[in-house]
Amino acid sequence: MKLATGTMVIENGQLVDGTGKPAIPSAAVVVEQGKIRYAGPAAGRPQVGPDATIVNARGGTIMPGLVEAHFHPTYFNVAELQDLDIKYPVEYVTLLASVNAKLALECGYTAARSGGSLFNIDVWLKKAIENDLVLGPRMAASGREICGVAGLMDWNPDFRKIGMEGLVLLVNGAEEARAAVRKLVKDGVEWVKTYPTGDAAAPDVNDHHTLCMTFDEMHAVVTTAHNHSMKVTGHCRATEGIKNALRAGYDTIEHGTFMDDEALDLLLARNVPVVPALYFELVSIERGPDFGMSQRVVDGHRETLEGGVESARRVLRAGGRLGMGGDYGFAWNPHGDYAKELSFFVNYVGFTPLETIQCATRYGAEIMGRGNEFGTVEPGKLADLLVVDGDVIKDIRLLEQRQKFIAVIQGGVIKAGQLAAPVTTSANMS
Ligand SMILES: [Zn+2]
Repeated sequence: MKLATGTMVIENGQLVDGTGKPAIPSAAVVVEQGKIRYAGPAAGRPQVGPDATIVNARGGTIMPGLVEAHFHPTYFNVAELQDLDIKYPVEYVTLLASVNAKLALECGYTAARSGGSLFNIDVWLKKAIENDLVLGPRMAASGREICGVAGLMDWNPDFRKIGMEGLVLLVNGAEEARAAVRKLVKDGVEWVKTYPTGDAAAPDVNDHHTLCMTFDEMHAVVTTAHNHSMKVTGHCRATEGIKNALRAGYDTIEHGTFMDDEALDLLLARNVPVVPALYFELVSIERGPDFGMSQRVVDGHRETLEGGVESARRVLRAGGRLGMGGDYGFAWNPHGDYAKELSFFVNYVGFTPLETIQCATRYGAEIMGRGNEFGTVEPGKLADLLVVDGDVIKDIRLLEQRQKFIAVIQGGVIKAGQLAAPVTTSANMS
């Protein structure tokens, strides 16, 4: 991704730098060659030349670009589990994924970690974004997911003889788990997404208290993935599944729903981040029935919501790290609503706006393994910034309103928001 040339000054706003420190009023950020040179009180900012670009934050907020820590670029209008896989041909889903990526950037998300994708679409989407062919967040790709045979993601009955080829690699035993990871190594993914547990969405045989992989399978995934410098995460609801994942050496935990004291201790011992993706549970309860969701599934989502809220609060209180992201792409939880997760964490879970923003920026970047490059507004980091017309500490819901975004900036280039220039596509197809 190309960096800007020249100098940019963003001024006349408060600075929320993503480190969790209180906002600095009347701040300025100076960007040079796409990287942050200065971030602090306007009074202390260095002199710049007369040709510097000035961005007026209009008394609003200057902050890091947001990080979607659980992004499914290939999910689109999903109303039931089957829609995740073969609802559309792969060619069409690829186009939809690029639309979702552009939308995420317009929503202020300058980086995103894939939480699983149909085929290798996210691997190639990432490449197209890196080559400035398609607008979107800086990505970490996951490709296809891994689940035990007959687990949550193995829903096609055998008589149909169609398997789960597009979305999931199904494994029986450690040998097959190793083979699946090796396939992903060749696909070029960075994160291996697994399914240690079931979910409220499958109440008959794979509910949220069910295990969908054995410890041996999970451990085989981790040792193989780590050998190839890949990271491992997993859909973890059931308490035992969370512990299996932590003991097997997982790098992050998705959801971390039913965490007991022992699970929390295991989590904190290695400072493993959790991505709760919790607003999905609330919106499923509220809107799922309009899309044919059964009462049993709604009840399961309610139990998941309550358990997940309690676990997220405990992780934060204990000094753990959480990422903000959340399974957008369902019919009742569409792409574009990403920042509803942040409002939900402030207004429902009880995190402060500063804590929530720290999770959505700094910790998101750390989860991606790129905390030294972006995620906070500090000298030396990439100028991946969001300039908002308003005080996001007073009203976190401003982050849901992209019409309030003055600028969404990647590497010093204004890519979206009111100040964005019309898009020109580069011909660099390397
Ligand atoms: Zn997900």
